[in-house]
Amino acid sequence: TKKHKTHNYAVYSEELDQRSAYKLSIERELKTAIAKQQLVLYYQPIVALPNTKLSAMEALIRWNHPDLGMVPPDHFIPVSEESGQIVAIGRWVLYTACLQNKAWQDQGHPPIKICVNISTIQLHQPNFVQTVKSVLEETGLDAKWLELEVTESILLEETDSLKQSLCALKELGISLSIDDFGTGYTSLSYLRQFSFDRIKIDRSFIEDINNELKGKAITSTIISLAHRLGMAVVAEGIEDEAQLAFLQSERCNEGQGYYFSRPLPAELHDLPRLFNPSR
Ligand code: C2E
Ligand code: CA
Ligand code: CA
Ligand code: CA
Repeated sequence: TKKHKTHNYAVYSEELDQRSAYKLSIERELKTAIAKQQLVLYYQPIVALPNTKLSAMEALIRWNHPDLGMVPPDHFIPVSEESGQIVAIGRWVLYTACLQNKAWQDQGHPPIKICVNISTIQLHQPNFVQTVKSVLEETGLDAKWLELEVTESILLEETDSLKQSLCALKELGISLSIDDFGTGYTSLSYLRQFSFDRIKIDRSFIEDINNELKGKAITSTIISLAHRLGMAVVAEGIEDEAQLAFLQSERCNEGQGYYFSRPLPAELHDLPRLFNPSR
């Protein structure tokens, strides 16, 4: 009936209002989050297989909010992408992560890569390559120790300017990886055209390794495809020995997940132990 519909609409629009009010407050408070030093980076180890020695760290952002506590990236990164705030936040992430990696090197640890997540919005900024270049200069980090992770969705638009940016980034000497591989619609022709250094198999496939035969089939197919295209493979979300054993038998190059370590603040990582794993 009409009445019912009206009622439904009212509920729906109230929900919508609440959601947009939440988004607006996030957006407003995010504006000062950098200045108030509320943004923090956690780091999660990426280890070489089969020896499980530390080979890289992925920087993962959190928002230490005075009332809400540690806000995970899924709660504010999408909002910041809509508002454009991701550009400033992304630069802060890049700078902070590179500075931390340089600090580890200066402390005498063997050099490793720092992997930084880059939003499609950042990559589309005309001055993005210049931003990366200045961050490397400001922090003194050698380009070969920086890797940018982009998601598959970036490959949907095969524009010339995007291709140029990706080429210019590679010319700086940094490496590039495709994040969450297998969840989007990557055109294989694009993979062939443009040389990414690594792909990261999405956690959902690693989860399926223990549950169903298809999980194993998909994972091993992705690994051999990547290898035949000259790319290394990182498996994300490794949580147990069985997943690790399967990935090692399939010659997966690197692994990341709670089995090795959760993401932690830099000072809580025991680097000497990560470089000399006992397992
Ligand atoms: P992602 O890049 O795919 O990062 C991996 C996520 O999986 C992280 O969640 C990590 O904590 C989680 N994870 C790692 N190992 C395991 C595991 O063994 N089991 C399970 N269940 N989870 C695991 P997090 O830190 O909440 O980040 C979520 C997403 O937010 C990231 O997904 C990335 O897309 C985005 N993100 C994080 N930091 C940044 C950033 O600085 N910039 C941008 N643009 N996006 C970011
Ligand atoms: Ca990532
Ligand atoms: Ca990922
Ligand atoms: Ca993911």
